[in-house]
Amino acid sequence: MAAEAQKIRLIRVPFAVGTSRPGNEQGADSFMEAGLGRTIRNLGWELTEEILSGEENVKEISRLLAERVRQAVEEGAFPLVLGGDHSVTIGTWAGLTNRSANLGLVWFDAHPTLLTADTSTTGYANEMALATILGKSGLNMPGTGRIRPENIVFIGLRDVQPSEREWIRAEGFTCFTMHEIDRLGIEKVVESALRIAGDGTDGIHVSLDADVLDPLEAPGVDSAVPGGLFFREAHFAFELLAESGLITSMDVSEVNPFLDEKRRTSKLISGLIASLLGKKIL
Ligand code: MG
Repeated sequence: MAAEAQKIRLIRVPFAVGTSRPGNEQGADSFMEAGLGRTIRNLGWELTEEILSGEENVKEISRLLAERVRQAVEEGAFPLVLGGDHSVTIGTWAGLTNRSANLGLVWFDAHPTLLTADTSTTGYANEMALATILGKSGLNMPGTGRIRPENIVFIGLRDVQPSEREWIRAEGFTCFTMHEIDRLGIEKVVESALRIAGDGTDGIHVSLDADVLDPLEAPGVDSAVPGGLFFREAHFAFELLAESGLITSMDVSEVNPFLDEKRRTSKLISGLIASLLGKKIL
């Protein structure tokens, strides 16, 4: 069970203004339709839900979301943010770190999202999410709180642009690409990730981009990249995160129900959220 919180504040962000294609705005609803609310309650959590509404740009959504996340933290609830595209992490992080909380970050994604206003060819914020949190994307966004590069861990990278590769090398971010996952196995990878993200921090935020999963099992994403995490590998990872008791918040993004097949992606992601929140086989 994740660190101490008995309450979950589930915040739906039904927008996809940080990306180019329609569909991500319905991601959060697709998890609820897959029964996520009931699953969370059945795990013993006290669940409150809210939905952001009425906003049309990433900056304003991020500002509102940060406020909601900050309130959830102050009430002692576990913030669970359901996007939307990956730009939801910008507002989430701003809210989490508002009171100078010192958090580690585990980033599950095929992409590092370290493009900037200069290096992105599309200009969409979901490609620049972590660069924005680090204050270096060139996007004008709500101020994010502290983030220490040594407590950031990537898991599942396999589509990295040259400028991102340079940045990762220069900054020394810990990256468990699919190569390291193949070599070490997901158990060692997650154990190392927990140690690194948890070193000297008050908790760990998990950011889950659905495209970290293999598109054979999770086809409902805009930026599908072959060669990702498989069903059991991903579940085992999230079960290990739950066992650690170190995870204090989570955001989920990049599910596009328009591209999904028989809700496979929504169901798989909902299952991973449940694993993180303590669901076990027995
Ligand atoms: Mg991605």
